[in-house]
Amino acid sequence: MSGKVYFADTRTSSEENLHDKVLRLMEAAGIENVIHSGDLTAVKTHFGEKGGHAYVRPTFLRRVIDRLRRGGALPFITDSCTLYPGERKEAVSALRCGIENGLAFAVVGAPLILCDGLRGHSARRVPIDGGILASVDIGEVILEADSMVVVSHFKGHELTGFGGAIKNLGMGCSSRQGKMEQHSSIAPRVSEEACTACRVCLKACAHDAIVMKGKAFIVPGKCVGCARCIGVCPERAIRIQWNESADMAMKKMAEYALGALHGKKGKALFINFIVQVSPDCDCYPHSDAPIVPDIGILAGTDPVALDQASADLVNQSAGLPNTALKSGHEPGGDKFRGVHPAIDWETTLEHGEKIGLGGRKYELVRF
Ligand code: SF4
Ligand code: SF4
Repeated sequence: MSGKVYFADTRTSSEENLHDKVLRLMEAAGIENVIHSGDLTAVKTHFGEKGGHAYVRPTFLRRVIDRLRRGGALPFITDSCTLYPGERKEAVSALRCGIENGLAFAVVGAPLILCDGLRGHSARRVPIDGGILASVDIGEVILEADSMVVVSHFKGHELTGFGGAIKNLGMGCSSRQGKMEQHSSIAPRVSEEACTACRVCLKACAHDAIVMKGKAFIVPGKCVGCARCIGVCPERAIRIQWNESADMAMKKMAEYALGALHGKKGKALFINFIVQVSPDCDCYPHSDAPIVPDIGILAGTDPVALDQASADLVNQSAGLPNTALKSGHEPGGDKFRGVHPAIDWETTLEHGEKIGLGGRKYELVRF
C-alpha cells in the first residue's frame, strides 16, 4: 500500500497565496479526521536558533493554528530543549528564542509549551518494537497531547543527510536523555580547562556518577547518560562525546520517531516545507544559502512517505551554484550526498519502513 502525499508548489496568484495552499493541503490530507473538538493538539515545530532564518515562518504556523481552532481543537506550539548547552538548553531560554524568532502568541495565535519541561527531563519511557532500542524517552507533553501536527522545515543535515518530519519527531520530541541516547553511547566528559570545581553538577547527578578529582570527573561505569549535568554546568564544561556513528544515530532517530507517535495512530498529520533548503541543521545560529530553489509544501499522514517524497523532489531539482552543494547539481543528482558525501541519508527511511513507522512508496498528488 502506498501513502498519499499532497504537494503544492510555490506558485501563487491573486486567487490563492501560499498560506491558502497550506490550508488546502491540510484539508486534502484529512485534518478533519486527525483532530477532534476539545483535542489538546501539539503543533511540533523547530523554534529556530538565534541568528538562523530558515525555520518555518510563523505566519504559516498561524494558518495551521487557525484551522485547528476552527475544528474545535486547543492547539499549542511545542519544541524541546537542546542536548548541547546553547541558546535553547532550558525552557526559559528556548521560549525566549522562539518568541524572538516570531512565535509570539500575537503572531501564531497559540501558546508555546516546551514538551520536555523546564530542563529537558520531563519525559517518560515508551516501549517500542524497534530492533535496536527497547524503549525511548519522549517529552511527556507529546505523550499527553490528544493529537499532533508536525510542521517541519525540510533541509540538509550534517549527521542524517536530511532533516524533515522523522527528525522533527525523533530528535525533536525526545528528552535531553533521549537526544543523548541517539547521539552518544558513552558518558559525557568534563573539560578540565573549563571546569571551575563549583560542584553544581555533583548536586544535579542523581546517580552519584560525578566525583571531584581537583576538577569534576564523571565515572563512566556509574553514569546512566541522563545528560542532566550538561544543562546545569554554568561553565559549559561538560561535553557530549558525539561518538555514535551516523548510521546508528539515524536508526535510533527513526525508532524515537516511532515512540513519539505512541498512542497517536490516526491522530497525527505532517507538513514539510521544502523552501530555503539550507545545507545543515536549523540548530546553527546561521542559515547558509539554499542548495536548490524553493520547491513547495507537502502534507500527509505518513512521515516516511512524506520525507521520501520531499527527498525525491529535492533531488529531482537542479542544484544552485555558489552554495555548499559540491556535486549532483544536475536534476536527479544526489543533493544530500552533494553536501554531506559520507552520509547515507536513506538509512533513516529504510529503517523507518522496517520498523513500521511508515512506507517509502507513495502517491504524489499535485495541486
Ligand atoms: S558544574 Fe561544571 S564547572 Fe561546576 S564542577 Fe561541574 S563541570 Fe565543573
Ligand atoms: S549524564 Fe546523568 S548520570 Fe551521567 S554524570 Fe551526568 S547527571 Fe550523572
